[in-house]
Amino acid sequence: MYMLYLNSDQFAEALERIDTVVLPIGMTEAHGHHCPLGTDVIIPRRFLELIEERMGDELIIAPEIPYGHSWNLAPYPGTLDIPANVFGEYVYHVGKNLAKWGVKKLVLFNGHGGNTPALTPVMERLADLGLTVLLINWWIDYAAEILTICEGQGHAGEDETSVVLAIDESIVDMSKARVNWNKAIANVRFPGMSLKTMENAQTGDATLASKAKGEAILSLCTEKIIELLRHLQAGQLIMNKG
Ligand SMILES: [Zn+2]
Repeated sequence: MYMLYLNSDQFAEALERIDTVVLPIGMTEAHGHHCPLGTDVIIPRRFLELIEERMGDELIIAPEIPYGHSWNLAPYPGTLDIPANVFGEYVYHVGKNLAKWGVKKLVLFNGHGGNTPALTPVMERLADLGLTVLLINWWIDYAAEILTICEGQGHAGEDETSVVLAIDESIVDMSKARVNWNKAIANVRFPGMSLKTMENAQTGDATLASKAKGEAILSLCTEKIIELLRHLQAGQLIMNKG
C-alpha cells in the first residue's frame, strides 16, 4: 500500500501488522540525450507498482526521494546534484522518523548509482537505531541476470534505456541514443573527468536498447526482488555457504 494515500490512523493501524517500509530513492539528472531526466525515479516507481500488485498487503511504500548525489553528471543540463553529506543526512532523517513510528525493516529502493556511497553510512546509522535496512540497486544486484538479456549495461545504456522503453516508449528518443565505452582506469577524480567518462551523459551502447529487453528485465528483476523481500520479511538475511 502507498503511504501517501493512508491517513494517520490508517498508517498507525497498518504498522500493527506490517513492519516493512520501502523508500524509493531516485535522482533527477541527465540520462544521455535520449532518456528523461527522471529515469532513476521512473524505473523504481514501475518496479514498485509491479511489486505492490503482488505484495500490497505486506509492505508500505513511502513517497519517493527524487533528488540525489551525482558529481559525475553535474555538468549536464537538468542534473540537480545534492552534496553527498546533505543527501545522506536527509535520507537518514526520513528513516529515523519511520523508525519512530514503529517501522522495523526499511528497504532503500535505489535507482541511481551515485547515491550508493552516501547510502552505506546511512544504513549503518539506521541499523544502530534498531532498524534492519536493505539496499536494492536493481542493475547491480541482478547484473548477471540482466546480462542474459542485454549485451552490456550502462548509465542510460542498453539495460536502463530498455527498461524506460518498456515503461513508456513515448519518453525515449532513440534517434539520440549513443555509444560510449570510455572508463577511468582506476577509482580516480580529476577536473573535467565527467565530460570524458560520461560523454553525452551516457555510458554503454544505448542503440541496442529495445522495449522487449526492458519488459524481460522488469519481469525478471521483479521476481528476484520479491524473493529477496520475502527473505527480508522472514528474517532470512544470512547465507551459509559452508
Ligand atoms: Zn539512471
